[in-house]
Amino acid sequence: MALGEFDLIQQYFLSHGNRTDVVLGVGDDCAVVSIPEGRQLAVTTDTLVDGVHFPSDTSARDIAHKAITVNLSDLAAMGAEPAWITLALSLPQANENWIRPFADEFIATAAKYKVQLIGGDTTRGPLSITVQAMGLVDPERMMRRDGARPGDAIYVSGTLGDAAAGLRILQQKQAADENGAWLIKQLNRPDPRVELGVKVAEYCKCAIDISDGLAADLGHILAASHCGATVYKDRIPLSHQLVEHSINRDEVDWELVLSGGDDYELCLVVTPDNENKLMQVSSETGLILTRIGIIEQQKSLTIVDETGAKQLLDHPGYEHFTQ
Ligand code: ADP
Ligand code: MG
Repeated sequence: MALGEFDLIQQYFLSHGNRTDVVLGVGDDCAVVSIPEGRQLAVTTDTLVDGVHFPSDTSARDIAHKAITVNLSDLAAMGAEPAWITLALSLPQANENWIRPFADEFIATAAKYKVQLIGGDTTRGPLSITVQAMGLVDPERMMRRDGARPGDAIYVSGTLGDAAAGLRILQQKQAADENGAWLIKQLNRPDPRVELGVKVAEYCKCAIDISDGLAADLGHILAASHCGATVYKDRIPLSHQLVEHSINRDEVDWELVLSGGDDYELCLVVTPDNENKLMQVSSETGLILTRIGIIEQQKSLTIVDETGAKQLLDHPGYEHFTQ
């Protein structure tokens, strides 16, 4: 059954969540929220377009989950605590068989991360999902891209390259075994490092989320901070699923690891005196944090491989990898 725009909003997106800081949510011309004194608003938005950001046969539930989590990943990289989201939805038709699972998963994901849907827009058009996420940040605890200094240590959370490997499995229509299924799940169900971001922001001044691959995203930090880095390839954390899927570590496609997108892990830059605090957060959150390199004065990104051979990437020429 085809639904009208207003019925659709009424039925699926009206009044979910119960945050006390929402003065007015879905239903009026604007949403109104209160911002606690002493905190600032962090705002980010990301669009997912059918066929560009996800394969066309991706399920409505996976799309809903990802539309929220990619935005929460940006808040995490800032050290912001997620609070509210808006949803601008462009749909080719009001097909309830698609909208119902989409809305269910969307509302469930919002609840999981304690963010409330406070407004949006619904139009007819090619399938495209835009979420805006807003969070609260302490002015003194903001992780910015321009905060890296020579001598700082570079860490990443989790493992890299998994989502890109998952995408390749889908694109090449490979049969997915257990490892393959896990890699595809990393692509479709990113787990934004919200808790990690908020916890480390106390002493970590510089971070980025890895959405376009380590080389490109670390490159953004280096460009903004006017410095370079050395990264040790053999320290880059790989999942056992990726290693086994690739047969062994020597066979891993490093392009996936260094330049593949959709990891949504955090790359953190900390001064050496704060490294032990990072390790503490790692044990509190159960999340692996790995030191992969160091910030340097010289403005290039050097990747050192296991034999000690250096590959120099003049920045910002990280597109080398994607060509
Ligand atoms: P307006 O024409 O004033 O922009 P709309 O008719 O577009 O209002 O939307 C009515 C209400 O429903 C607004 O509060 C808007 O924020 C909300 N809304 C519309 N689409 C969505 C959506 N997909 N998700 C959440 N809220 C929505
Ligand atoms: Mg509108």
